[in-house]
Amino acid sequence: MSHGPTPKSWISAIHAYVPGKSAGADGRPLIKLSANENPLGTSALALAARASAAEPSRYPDPDSKDLRAAIGAVHGIDPARIVMGTGSDELLNLAAQGYAGVGDEVLFPRFSFSVYDIAARRCGAEPVVAPDADYGSDVDALLALVSDRTRVVFVANPNNPTGSFLPKGEIARLHAGLPSDVLLVVDQAYAEYLSPEDDDGALALAEAHDNVLVTRTFSKIYGLAGERIGWGTGTSGIIDTLNRIRGPFNISNSGQAMALAAVNDRAFVESARVHNATERARFVAALEALGNHGLRPLPSEANFVLILFTGKLTAEMAYNGLMERGYITRWLPGQALPHGLRITIGTAQQMDDIAAALREMAEAAR
Ligand SMILES: *Cc1c(COP(=O)(O)O)cnc(C)c1O
Repeated sequence: MSHGPTPKSWISAIHAYVPGKSAGADGRPLIKLSANENPLGTSALALAARASAAEPSRYPDPDSKDLRAAIGAVHGIDPARIVMGTGSDELLNLAAQGYAGVGDEVLFPRFSFSVYDIAARRCGAEPVVAPDADYGSDVDALLALVSDRTRVVFVANPNNPTGSFLPKGEIARLHAGLPSDVLLVVDQAYAEYLSPEDDDGALALAEAHDNVLVTRTFSKIYGLAGERIGWGTGTSGIIDTLNRIRGPFNISNSGQAMALAAVNDRAFVESARVHNATERARFVAALEALGNHGLRPLPSEANFVLILFTGKLTAEMAYNGLMERGYITRWLPGQALPHGLRITIGTAQQMDDIAAALREMAEAAR
């Protein structure tokens, strides 16, 4: 009797990441507001830089030297303290793999990024989920679950899928409460959407302490999700660890060229931030003006809003109704949020359309 190779038990236990959809069940293309991509697209300077990328027959610079120098200059970080990843996804996985394994625990809040569970299980560690505080991350709940076996703590700030934000004092309190041999990963995928005064202080912690990794991405405000580029910063020990285990040529030629131009196009980043803040506020105000239909938009500091549905109109009905009107959003029953619909902030026209559609559906369901 023949039998194939057996995957490790902890790999079989992984529920594969479910990406935001881009088409309906009938294959019809839909306007995609399900993956928090930039509705303004990509910086024109970044698009132009694609043409000047090193030729594809050649391997890329394994150290992404010019790109790290540009990121360092923009953020005031020594490029030696920056590590690049094939998306921040690679770095989140490497952080777990570098510091945790079988018998260890990886801790993160309930209703946070689904990659943390996968990253924990990939290296054989046990995911430990801390209760939320009204859907936000709860520092006390996280600290209460730290054990002798905790090796890595993940928090996304702002958080996905809730949009919630832990201010500087809370991040400092979380860090101060952790043993110095526990790695704190602050995933700042949406940090560029914050107002400048809302810095959560994690970059400063990552410079001053040996147990903090901050990750960022080019997938969101920079509009380069398709190029797969992320970066992280910490002290030299962490950077050295991640460099040992990352893919040696993990950022493509086109990716390095485009991200370098994108990080230097501060005007594009600022216009995208302002667009998002304006349209998010307008969208939330439109939802609040609906009155008592049981739609609750959670406060968001990111480029999406999670709406909780507690009335006659359910999240599933809203998801399907928006799909009929040409929009794909993110319904989250697989993340224990069957009452939640996450909608990426799109153009002004799209947000007006969606708010009007939700009003129509809520009134019809009454
Ligand atoms: C989108 C997202 C990322 C980015 O992942 P990439 O691999 O860089 O595309 C990371 N963390 C969170 C919380 C996200 O929502």
